[in-house]
Amino acid sequence: MENIVADFVVVGGGTAGCILAARLAEHGLETLLLSSGSDDTSNPLMNQKSQFLSLLKATHFKHYLPHMPLPNLNNRTLNLIVWNSLGGNSINWGGLERLTETECNLLVNASGDPSFSVEHMLTYYKMVENFTTTAPFSLAGFHGNNGPIQITHINEPGFSDVWKKVADELGEAFSDDLVGAIDYGFSFEPSSFKNGLRSFSANEYLIPALNKYSNLTLITGATVTKFEVNAITKQIDNLLFVSSNGCFRAIARKEYILSAGAFFSPHLLMLSGIGDPDVLEQNNIPVKHILRQVGKNLTDNGFIELEYEAKDFVIGQCIPVALINTRKRTTTMNPDLFFVLNMHQAVGKLHVSIFNASPRSPSGSISLYSSNPLVPPKVTLNYLDDQKDIETFIDGINYVRRMMSTNAMKHFAQVIETLPGKETNLHMYIRDKLLPSGHFVGTCSMGQDPQTSVVDKDFKVHGINNLRVVDASVFPAGFVSKKGPCLTVYALAEKAVNLLKQQYL
Ligand SMILES: Cc1cc2nc3c(=O)[nH]c(=O)nc-3n(C[C@H](O)[C@H](O)[C@H](O)COP(=O)(O)OP(=O)(O)OC[C@H]3O[C@@H](n4cnc5c(N)ncnc54)[C@H](O)[C@@H]3O)c2cc1C
Repeated sequence: MENIVADFVVVGGGTAGCILAARLAEHGLETLLLSSGSDDTSNPLMNQKSQFLSLLKATHFKHYLPHMPLPNLNNRTLNLIVWNSLGGNSINWGGLERLTETECNLLVNASGDPSFSVEHMLTYYKMVENFTTTAPFSLAGFHGNNGPIQITHINEPGFSDVWKKVADELGEAFSDDLVGAIDYGFSFEPSSFKNGLRSFSANEYLIPALNKYSNLTLITGATVTKFEVNAITKQIDNLLFVSSNGCFRAIARKEYILSAGAFFSPHLLMLSGIGDPDVLEQNNIPVKHILRQVGKNLTDNGFIELEYEAKDFVIGQCIPVALINTRKRTTTMNPDLFFVLNMHQAVGKLHVSIFNASPRSPSGSISLYSSNPLVPPKVTLNYLDDQKDIETFIDGINYVRRMMSTNAMKHFAQVIETLPGKETNLHMYIRDKLLPSGHFVGTCSMGQDPQTSVVDKDFKVHGINNLRVVDASVFPAGFVSKKGPCLTVYALAEKAVNLLKQQYL
């Protein structure tokens, strides 16, 4: 079997992995990036906002993730999306939001590391961002404008006043941008689309780095099947991967970085004998290192949509959003719902997506069907297990209805609710319509105690010397991203690079 050797071997060319590989190479470290998918960075399906709905229907760019019909969702089987393509799930709806101060504090508490505080994370968000806004506020201090990811924030002057008045009538705060002192309430969402084109980790970080640095090697179509763990030294000796050219071994002189995402990072750890011994033994995998939390704590918001006939609802390119509490006046501590307005001008339809920002149902998990690395992991999801989650969505629907009935909205445009419609049973509607939001986190959770977490504050797998996990799986147990996690996954990757720089340069 052929051996390939580099300073760092990064597994997964997705949101985080492309940043890690590009930055490590930029700092002169020999880096090998292995990614299971193809390079589709110049495919219009991946790049163009107008193609995203077609992309969602396409099957050939996705990892296959089977799972059971869910009784809580009227026995529907959900379509779980993980792009098997360079850029991974940074090929998404494009909302780029930061964590609130309270969310950052959850990371600080779980990790025991103050460098996850909102003040410190600002540095890493700014490293990612090339932020432009039409809003009448200053960029100074809050946003970066030299980073690789193009972020466009549009505050349509005509609608901005309406949105502020709606917030006012509902007793909520308005902020031009949900960063800084007011990180909740009504606002406009920054987006990774500029002039209809997507800016994402593969086209902004990886491809330019490949063109520039000869110490960066990318192998696509390379599925990593196993880390060879030395159970005595607690070192990774090498990893194995398969491609259409056969089986290969890769060896990292310094470290292995696992960035295969919330489904596949825990899958690969388990296949390598790192995980809960009960799960490993059931699947005849020799236990190399016990970490019971591998694959546990899978969370996602889940979302439902309301639809309105809204011919006169002209809001240009702006994306109105709100992070609110449906029952009390919202503060940074208590948002339970995030909603996003999307206007499809060509068909005169307005969609309001409601995301559950504080699900109460027990978390799900990633486990195994088999020790065969080419068999996908077993995914357990518990959406709507707790009745309170249904109530949160009903509160959300009623809140949106109140919002649409404010004087400010009524003066702005006439809209007619088409879904769910006044006569529909809301319990049934929610069970029939809830969809995954794709904000899956938590399956290699960060924490101080190996009994209750998988990685430490430096992203190192507890008890293993040369393996880190850097991707959406590292959010701590119990953490649910109140908005989208993508920008924070980028920022965490920049933070991890900074740690590696301190150690190796
Ligand atoms: C439909 C959808 C819409 C979303 N919209 C938004 C949004 O608007 N805003 C937001 O903030 N967030 C959004 N998200 C969530 C966000 O995109 C993810 O949280 C984030 O991209 C996850 O990044 P990651 O690095 O953890 O994993 P990924 O980006 O998924 O990267 C994992 C990579 O690893 C590769 N891989 C997997 N297994 C292996 C293996 N064995 N060997 C080699 N390679 C492997 C995969 O092919 C993939 O390229 C959305 C998600 C989805 C699915």
